[in-house]
Amino acid sequence: MKKSNSMASLQIITNCPMCDFKYDKKNVKMIDKKDGMITVYLSCQKCRSSMMMVIMTGILGITSVSMMTDITESDLKNIKSSYIEYDDVLEMHQFLERR
Ligand SMILES: [Zn+2]
Repeated sequence: MKKSNSMASLQIITNCPMCDFKYDKKNVKMIDKKDGMITVYLSCQKCRSSMMMVIMTGILGITSVSMMTDITESDLKNIKSSYIEYDDVLEMHQFLERR
């Protein structure tokens, strides 16, 4: 995937839905990235709310799903490791290909 693609995708949500704080680059963490799908974690330094966003790129353009979360940044490392451990990557991939 080209780098410019992911940068454009990350601009979908630029403000905190809770307090309208404008996210800075350092508030956005990419958790996962694979063909046409990017998972990012956004944390607001003003109201300390955080959210997860899944961005999918396909024929119809860019689709994003976002949800509020209470996951902290330190939790992210645990998620990442268990994610790989349980082999969900393959499962998710198969799920997406079936659609
Ligand atoms: Zn906020």
